[in-house]
Amino acid sequence: MAHKILVVEDDLLNRMFYHEALSARGHEVCLVDDGARVMAEASRFAPDLITMDIQLPSISGLRLIRLLRRDAQLSQIPIVAITAFVGQEEEARVRGAGASAFLAKPVSMDQLVRTAETLLADSAGPRA
Ligand code: MN
Repeated sequence: MAHKILVVEDDLLNRMFYHEALSARGHEVCLVDDGARVMAEASRFAPDLITMDIQLPSISGLRLIRLLRRDAQLSQIPIVAITAFVGQEEEARVRGAGASAFLAKPVSMDQLVRTAETLLADSAGPRA
């Protein structure tokens, strides 16, 4: 089933790669390269899932995850955090901020699709 996915990533090649992987599965993808635009784009696009790069120039992905989790309209959206820093400490930080899943770069197409679609299936129930 096709879903709406908001991809937050400042690196152009990664953005194109994630877009290719997810749109090949039929999903509608919205790309955001600037952390400062994430809240507005999420409100406008109303995604079913967000992939969040943690290393962003203007505002960190960790901070954005916390903002999303505190937002009345956006707090329930599953978030896949994607970070260049591997390790249990980083994963704990990212999950503590409210991420639903954690992927370490480099991310394969298969990993990305599998993680996103597992979360989408889990959150597919009727919403209040
Ligand atoms: Mn980045």
